[in-house]
Amino acid sequence: MPILRSGVMRFARLPTRMPLVGEPRQRFVLVIHGSLTSLRCQVRGCSAEASAQAEKQDFGAPLLSPIPPPIQPVLWGTSMKALVKTERSGGLTLTDVPKPAIGPNDVLIEISKTAICGTDVHIYDWNDWAKRTIPTPMVVGHEYCGTIKEMGSEVTGLEIGQRVTGEGHITCGFCRNCRAGRRHLCRETVGVGVNRPGAFAEYLCLPSINVFKLSDNVSDDIASFMDALGNATHTALSFNLVGEDVLITGAGPIGVMAAAICRHVGARHVVVTDINDYRLNLAVKCGATKALNVSGGDATEKLRKVMKELNMTEGFDVGLEMSGVPSAVHSMLETLNVGAHVGLLGIPSQPFPINWDHVVFKGLVIKGIYGREMFETWYKMQSMLVGGLQEKIMPVITHRYDVDQFDEGFSAMLSGQAGKIESRMLVSCGAEGSVAVWDADSGNLDCRLMGHIGTVTTVAVCPTNSELLATGGEDHTVRLWDLRDIEPSSQLARMSREKVMGINLAHFTLKGHEGGISRVRFTGDGQLLASVSKDCAVRIWIPSLFNPLLLAKFIAHEAWIRDVSWSPDQKSLFTAGSDGMVFAWEVPSKYHAQVHKGRATGSRKYKA
Ligand code: NAD
Ligand code: ZN
Repeated sequence: MPILRSGVMRFARLPTRMPLVGEPRQRFVLVIHGSLTSLRCQVRGCSAEASAQAEKQDFGAPLLSPIPPPIQPVLWGTSMKALVKTERSGGLTLTDVPKPAIGPNDVLIEISKTAICGTDVHIYDWNDWAKRTIPTPMVVGHEYCGTIKEMGSEVTGLEIGQRVTGEGHITCGFCRNCRAGRRHLCRETVGVGVNRPGAFAEYLCLPSINVFKLSDNVSDDIASFMDALGNATHTALSFNLVGEDVLITGAGPIGVMAAAICRHVGARHVVVTDINDYRLNLAVKCGATKALNVSGGDATEKLRKVMKELNMTEGFDVGLEMSGVPSAVHSMLETLNVGAHVGLLGIPSQPFPINWDHVVFKGLVIKGIYGREMFETWYKMQSMLVGGLQEKIMPVITHRYDVDQFDEGFSAMLSGQAGKIESRMLVSCGAEGSVAVWDADSGNLDCRLMGHIGTVTTVAVCPTNSELLATGGEDHTVRLWDLRDIEPSSQLARMSREKVMGINLAHFTLKGHEGGISRVRFTGDGQLLASVSKDCAVRIWIPSLFNPLLLAKFIAHEAWIRDVSWSPDQKSLFTAGSDGMVFAWEVPSKYHAQVHKGRATGSRKYKA
């Protein structure tokens, strides 16, 4: 039996229904080693699921509602900040919890950067899967990097101060697959931030075997989501890709990164499908040969057209399913070549039928993918990152937030207008015609946006996509900027003493106003942009980086309009003019419908 460090008081939160010998039923129990809970601690020191197993044995099957929290020792009397699922409903709470106590085989990691995964969004959103799976209270998060602060007495091969990240699946080490070195197929897998306390906290306790040492050449930005990159790596590297034509269905962060990996290792054509233009654009930035929007119309037909354009005569050699959507699976099966290989990573929300003819008669080889290969995927991933993959997947980071802005981060993820979300920036505009984007953490000037002629009067950052900026100027134009399209400009850096990383020219110039622009404002979902001007008109635009459109033009003010704001339901707007009037305008619902269909025509005068 492993010996517990004496003097460390351990604290456990036990399920309310659990009877305790000699104690009334109570919610919090403070124990020191030698008691009932210290027994759990030593079991836990071996592996988390063993402790979960012990819990089941001691107290019967886990309660379905609420699910009891795992027994995870903490250092009583200490505290750290963490994002916690406290209630069995939507949202998370930033609160203080005790620091985790480590066992002899664990390390304590001080977290420096984290990223939000789709799983975290499910937990935040509290969908059916989360209700079935997540114990409360629970510290969530499993994409992170940090440094080792403490090590258990039995840990070897690691050092205090080392930069690390970690595999989020904790395996038993004893089942047949684990013993055969196939730990990713362990039947007792426990998830960090899902079944046991996670990484959206100042400190994380992790079994040392799960720790992965980071190369100095891998940045914190990327290291913070190697867990998700590992999903993409595991799927893509399951097949020989050299010279092959690959179809990826789903341009979520994992699909987009998989596209970069396929190109990195020598695939010929990489075609990515999605129903979201924003994400498809990211796929192209990460190296996809072709990004195809399959919404509306026959996806298979669309894919066949693309195959023709690319001079593909037989079909895709490899299919990577990364959406979990049945129609995506269907179109993939239809367009794969005979004898093709398929990796299924996407998790469908429900069972669904497929046309088995394709599988049987095409002799398809299908592989289900779960997690990352331990630890083959990690070594290959790090080597690829250092060998140039790191730069290629940078576009997948679309937002950065401080931890106290976590609600905004999750909202951006829920909007679908985001890749990976990490901290933040400041934007300023000036009379000399440029807009400056600053890194709020370092205070450095990140880039300059050049294009307006004369004073830039107003700027707005899209709430769901911090890379999309709208500005308005005295030159009567509204401009849309895509911050990822930044050209490095050493000349500009020489001209000014400030550190300028690059310049960006407007992606689109929206013309129409006949006076200087006084204000631009996005709706909360980033789908519409309103602009007001000295020409007394209000204009509403679809601010798409693919195809911006003027949706409507409203006139009633008799002098220039100073300000505009949206109602919380985004269906009306309010304007204040220098004629002393405030107008409320209703945006006709057909415009909202058009936004969702992604097209709109003409402008329209609306009577106040
Ligand atoms: P995501 O939800 O961000 O991405 C899925 C993408 O599929 C979205 O961009 C969505 O617009 C797109 N999509 C929807 N309908 C489509 C259609 N008809 N055709 C093509 N694309 C369509 O998820 P993610 O984080 O990138 O993860 C990808 C998938 O992998 C998800 O299903 C996720 O649950 C799953 N996943 C599996 C594992 C595993 O170990 N097996 C691990 C992590 C994630
Ligand atoms: Zn196992």
